[in-house]
Amino acid sequence: MITAEAVKSFESIQTPFYFYDIELLEKTLGLYVSLLKKYGYSAHYALKANADNKIIGIIRQAGLGADCVSGNEVALAVKAGFAPDKIVYAGVGKSDKEIKTALKAGIFSFNCESVPEIKVIDGLAGALGKKARIALRVNPDIDAHTHKYISTGRKEDKFGISPWMFESVAALLGECKNTELVGLHFHVGSQILDLGVFRLLCKRIAELQQWFTDRNITISNLNLGGGLGVDYENPNEHPVADFENYFDIIHKNLAVRPEQRVHFEPGRAIVAQCGHLISRVLYVKIGQRRKFVILDAGMNDLIRPALYQAHHAIENLVSSKRKMRYDVVGPVCESSDKFGGNIMLPQTQRGDLIAIHTAGAYGQVMSMRYNQRDLAKAYYSDEL
Ligand SMILES: *Cc1c(COP(=O)(O)O)cnc(C)c1O
Repeated sequence: MITAEAVKSFESIQTPFYFYDIELLEKTLGLYVSLLKKYGYSAHYALKANADNKIIGIIRQAGLGADCVSGNEVALAVKAGFAPDKIVYAGVGKSDKEIKTALKAGIFSFNCESVPEIKVIDGLAGALGKKARIALRVNPDIDAHTHKYISTGRKEDKFGISPWMFESVAALLGECKNTELVGLHFHVGSQILDLGVFRLLCKRIAELQQWFTDRNITISNLNLGGGLGVDYENPNEHPVADFENYFDIIHKNLAVRPEQRVHFEPGRAIVAQCGHLISRVLYVKIGQRRKFVILDAGMNDLIRPALYQAHHAIENLVSSKRKMRYDVVGPVCESSDKFGGNIMLPQTQRGDLIAIHTAGAYGQVMSMRYNQRDLAKAYYSDEL
């Protein structure tokens, strides 16, 4: 919910820009951290969702670690003050340079996604005189019932190590002298609203870790990844994700052994609702069949609709006239540069301020300079 005072201050800011509701971020983190404490779980925030300095600073202060997917993210996490022993690093294609960065930083764990990767990490760790802690990112073959581009846990997805590879992994680990297995890692997809997916994941984890127990291989950490979805349809009604039910389902279904620590890697659910892309209407174009609201924000500022056919709630912050149907589009030279088709908005005119909600995750961090457009800046509710 964007307050009337905030809208007033928007008048003097160059659009388009990202607006972050810091109170909502803190409220979201407050609930999240209280539930972590209740169940004794740990969490590492997925930096890729939003790597804004101020935002990651607040998340670090709340006590979360960092989940990284590149060497530069590991370096950023260290620079932002995350304790190395709270940093984890996943990715199917870690380069030698990236692995060295993470080894030198002394991160908690590499979440390894293939047999050849484990070999390379072991070799590089040996050369640096270090011991690499690794977790196996297991592909549990679960359909997360989400968009195909953000599903990561089915056997046809590129991510993770499939159970049929366990035999060769175990053999390899026996030879790797510079590598220590510290756990199993899972991340089955993103924007998951069907919590039954997580119940299923807990059951699969029990089966999968038994394979290791049977061979006397200790699994001291279980990392369930991220993926919890948020309400893109009605952000004002559900500004905070359903963490209570999520953790309740995990707690009731995950068999945790004594001495095992349970980890999570939330990204979207922490930051999505606190971010809004604020734009101004450049033109309203009346076609024969459709009316187009043409914004000064485009797919280069927020690519989710073009990339994942994602829906974002759109609000005219200044008009309260009679509602009409519009297509809301950006100025970029691509037909996919469209934020919403056939949506109801109060009658809209040139100069109106428009908010595209739930843009805090995979929004600003994915922005680019296509068409040589400027990058949108960030503004924060507590600094207006
Ligand atoms: C992207 C990612 C996450 C975060 O996913 P969300 O859906 O944003 O919660 C967590 N873990 C890994 C390994 C990821 O790649």
